[in-house]
Amino acid sequence: MKNSRMEEIGKVLSEAESILVFTHLNMDADAVGSSCALVREFRRLGKKSWVLFNDSETADNLRFLLGDLTTDDPSVIEKPDVCLAVDASETTRFPRVADKFLSGKIRIAVDHHEIKDTDWEYNYIDPSAGAAGELVLKLFDVMGITPERGSAEALFAAISSDTGNFQYNNTTKETFLSCARLCDFGIRPNAVSNALYECVKPEKLRLQSEAVSRMEFLLDGRIVMSCLTEEMYEKTGAVPNDGEGIVAELRSIKGVEVAVLLKEENGKTYGSFRAKNEANVRVFAELFGGGGHDKAAGCTIEHSMKEAYPLVREAAVRHFSKAFEEMEKAGESIGWNS
Ligand code: 5GP
Ligand code: MN
Repeated sequence: MKNSRMEEIGKVLSEAESILVFTHLNMDADAVGSSCALVREFRRLGKKSWVLFNDSETADNLRFLLGDLTTDDPSVIEKPDVCLAVDASETTRFPRVADKFLSGKIRIAVDHHEIKDTDWEYNYIDPSAGAAGELVLKLFDVMGITPERGSAEALFAAISSDTGNFQYNNTTKETFLSCARLCDFGIRPNAVSNALYECVKPEKLRLQSEAVSRMEFLLDGRIVMSCLTEEMYEKTGAVPNDGEGIVAELRSIKGVEVAVLLKEENGKTYGSFRAKNEANVRVFAELFGGGGHDKAAGCTIEHSMKEAYPLVREAAVRHFSKAFEEMEKAGESIGWNS
């Protein structure tokens, strides 16, 4: 796959009359914020534009970003001039609406995930970007768009969330520069942060408490593993979306290098993986056909929790005992903060 120049993508989008925007399933703030900011600004340019969501449910704390910008209905634009995937590039990341994406006259991906063999008419893939939101701001720049406050705040939500509130190793000078630029467009960082983070439902904390009480430590406490089961959702009144963020809490435990959280969903198991210092969970997720980033990755396993849990547990011990050993040999610091 060859990257296009952002200017080329900007030109194609400027010329399009109808643009359908896609993003990945299990939407996070980067997915929702980046896609909604795009559609908002495309509409201000007089274009027909919608975000076509793969999922029908949006997490409560992200609803403030939606406005009337999103739909579940693929027929909302019959034959889009452009289908634009953001924070996602492969159709497996939005399976319900994959056919609609393919039906676009021109297909474009703007993403910060590593991809393997996807190649659309235009691609802008930059794994060094902290969030897709940073790339969307770049796109606005080349298109000469001055985003209005709502779009700028959606991008701030995207960047803040995907960098773990400017804490993860994907936080760069570019991240801070992007946010400084967003301040010029009138964003209210405190109000956005409160909307995103200071609104945890009691059900979610109860679900987290279930995951915490069920956690087990492997490889001398360097791996923590737990799960979210249908039974737990029932007991706590939480929904699967409430599982978002729990794996990062597990990683925050002293001495933990890798956190593994398995979530039961419709008979399948979704794996959510996080690394702290040197370990790479993307490579681990790829063992199960998934992917993502070095420090945050996931996969879907076509087995029930009962079958998947021991499978992943064994693979984690095998994979990371070797990986930790190699890192130690290479003199890389593991758990330096423990
Ligand atoms: P999460 O654990 O938050 O669901 O996902 C962590 C990261 O990995 C996110 O950036 C997400 O987009 C990515 N990811 C999750 N599952 C998959 C997958 O099956 N394939 C790929 N390529 N990326 C994934
Ligand atoms: Mn992202």
